[in-house]
Amino acid sequence: MTFTSFHSTFLVVLLLASSCSHGQDTHQNPATAGNQTAIVVYNPISKRDTTMEKVTKTDEQWLDELSSEEFRIARKKGTERAFTGKYWNHHDDGTYTCRCCGSYLFSSSTKYESGSGWPSFYDVVSSKNVRLESDFALGVERTEVLCARCDAHLGHVFDDGPRPTGLRYCINSASMSFVPKQDEAP
Ligand SMILES: [Zn+2]
Repeated sequence: MTFTSFHSTFLVVLLLASSCSHGQDTHQNPATAGNQTAIVVYNPISKRDTTMEKVTKTDEQWLDELSSEEFRIARKKGTERAFTGKYWNHHDDGTYTCRCCGSYLFSSSTKYESGSGWPSFYDVVSSKNVRLESDFALGVERTEVLCARCDAHLGHVFDDGPRPTGLRYCINSASMSFVPKQDEAP
């Protein structure tokens, strides 16, 4: 290809791209605009935003990777019984990740004793890494917390947490894995 033909091809592509963008919402996350399979999440180890593929799997695929209890909770919006999960009384330093897709969710530095019997945090590693949705399942409005990358059900967030946020992220152990601080890698 000559320089001139490359140049004119490039111009045509530019023109097509600009004509296609008319009428679109220009406030979308740039990673998801025109590409519903990518998402920007924050990596607290490298301290950078990272573009990752969204994770979408069938129930059969999830059942191959999760225990039946993890599947019931993380993929079907279940709840583990209080004081039974593996992390409600877990105090090691490190990062809690999504059991389903590995995305970083919570730091041990924001975990606190809520007395509820579920792992409780007063903040997420980044609001980019979770998605919040209204949930009326119990007849009252609650705010469900989901993994932004794979839509796993994590738990709920309430406004009776400690300072500085005043929030209590009440999360199922079964929806998380734990990466000890010494094993953390970007
Ligand atoms: Zn996930």
